Amino acid sequence: MSNLPNEAFRDTIGTIDDQGKRKFIFPKKPSGKFYEYRKWVSYLLLVILVANPFVKINGNQFMLFNILERRFNIFGFPFWPQDFYIFVLFMIVGVVFVILFTVIFGRIFCGWICPQTIFLEMVFRRIEYWIEGDRGAQIRLSKQEWNADKIKKKGFKWFLFLLISFAIANVFLAYIIGSDALFQMIEDGPLEHLSTIISLSIFTGVFYFIFVWFREQVCIIACPYGRLQGVLLDNKSINVAYDFVRGEKEEGRAKFNKQEDRAETGKGDCIDCKQCVNVCPTGIDIRNGTQLECVNCTACIDECDVIMESVGLPKGLIRYASEDEIEKKTPFKFTARMKGYTAVLGILIGILIGILFLRNDVEATILRLPGQLYQHKGENISNIYTFKIINKTHNDFQNVHFKLVGIKGDLNVVGNTAFKVPKQGMSSGTLFIEINQYILESERTNLNIEVFEGDKKIETTTTSFLSPRSFD
Ligand code: SF4
Ligand code: SF4
Repeated sequence: MSNLPNEAFRDTIGTIDDQGKRKFIFPKKPSGKFYEYRKWVSYLLLVILVANPFVKINGNQFMLFNILERRFNIFGFPFWPQDFYIFVLFMIVGVVFVILFTVIFGRIFCGWICPQTIFLEMVFRRIEYWIEGDRGAQIRLSKQEWNADKIKKKGFKWFLFLLISFAIANVFLAYIIGSDALFQMIEDGPLEHLSTIISLSIFTGVFYFIFVWFREQVCIIACPYGRLQGVLLDNKSINVAYDFVRGEKEEGRAKFNKQEDRAETGKGDCIDCKQCVNVCPTGIDIRNGTQLECVNCTACIDECDVIMESVGLPKGLIRYASEDEIEKKTPFKFTARMKGYTAVLGILIGILIGILFLRNDVEATILRLPGQLYQHKGENISNIYTFKIINKTHNDFQNVHFKLVGIKGDLNVVGNTAFKVPKQGMSSGTLFIEINQYILESERTNLNIEVFEGDKKIETTTTSFLSPRSFD
C-alpha cells in the first residue's frame, strides 16, 4: 500500500474531529445490488430475531436465556444448569464458527448478520432517510436553527425511535424472562411488576441511546469482535476492498475528464469522487486499505459501481477481494489455517450433535446427607440421602419410585413412596436406605438405584452407602 497518497488516516478516527469531539456521520443513502440483497437478508433475520422468543416447539420457547432462573432453551431444547457444559460447547462452536468465517470472509458477520448493523442500517437509518431526507438534507437540517420544521422532523423521528427502542426492549425481555411471563406482565399491568418495568425502561433507554446517538461507535470502540480483526485477518481473507492497483495505476487517482484516455495518461480508475466515503456509515475511506472501522456493509461497493458505470469504466473497483488477489492477482485459496479451523469446527459440531442425542431426558441424583454417617437399626445399617429428579420432557411423570438393585435392602422415601415430577420440572426429597450389616463387605459400598415411572425404567443412578469398619 506504499503508493497511497498519505498515511494521516492512521492517526485519526473518521468519527472524531481535531478537537477530539464526536463527528456525527451523515452517510449517503446506499442503493445498489448488494444493498438490495442485504435488505432481504435483514428482513429475514429481523423476523427470526423477533419471532425466536414467541415461537414454541413442544411447548418450549425456541430461544430463552433466563439467567435469573437459570433456564435456557436453544432451538427449543431446554437446558438445565446440569447441561451447562452443552451450553458452553454451543458457545465455543459459535465462536469458532465466527472465527472461521472471519478468517475467510472478513467481517461479513458485521455487515450482514449483526443485529446492531441490521437495526441501525435497515430500521433506524431508513426511518431517518424517510423523515429527514438523504445526506445533504440531513446535514442542512442539523446545521439550521431550531424552527418549526426542524422540531417537527426531529421530534417525530425521536418519537418513532423511542417506540422502536421500546419494542426491541420488550423482545429482549421476552428472551430473558420468557414470552409467557411478558404476556402475563402486560395482562397484569405495570404496577404489579415494578422491578421488571424499571428494567424495561433501562433497556429502552440503552437501545434509544445507541440508535439515536452512539450508533457506529458500538462497532468502532465497544464491540470486542471488531478488535479481533487485526489478529484474524490476513492477506488471504476476503474483505470489502479497494483495488488500489487498478484505482491508482502509475499516476494515481485523478478527477474524471471526458476528453482524456486514462489508459494513455497512466491515471488510475478512481476518479476521486469520494462517494465511497460519503456513503460509509463509519466515516472511513476504504481507499486507505482494510481498517478496523469497516463493518463490510458493502455500501461503498454499490456506490463505486454506480460511479464506474456512469464514467464508462468496469465495475468492481471496490469489491469483495483479498489483498493477495488485488496485489498479486492470486485467486482465492483455501489455506492451511482455514482448513485447520474447518476441521476443528467439524469436530466440535460432531461432538455437540453426539451430546445432544445422548443427553438424558431424566436426571437423577441421590447424595448422602452432608454430615451424616450411618445409624444402627437392629441388624441393619441405615443411611440418609437427599434426591433430586429432573424431568426435561414435555410430559408429567406420575408414580415415580426407586428400586435398589444388585443388593438386598430397603429404600424408603420420606412422605410418599411414589411421587410426581412435573414436565420441565424437578422433584426433590429425602430417602433412607437400610441394608443388613452382615451382607455389607466394606465400609463403603457402591449402590445402583433405578428410577421408575410406573413400570417403566427412566434412569439409573449410583450412590454410596457407609457402614462401620467392623461388625464384630
Ligand atoms: S467511489 Fe470509486 S471512484 Fe469514487 S472515490 Fe471511491 S473508489 Fe474512487
Ligand atoms: S468502507 Fe465500505 S464496507 Fe466498510 S463500512 Fe464503509 S461503506 Fe461499509
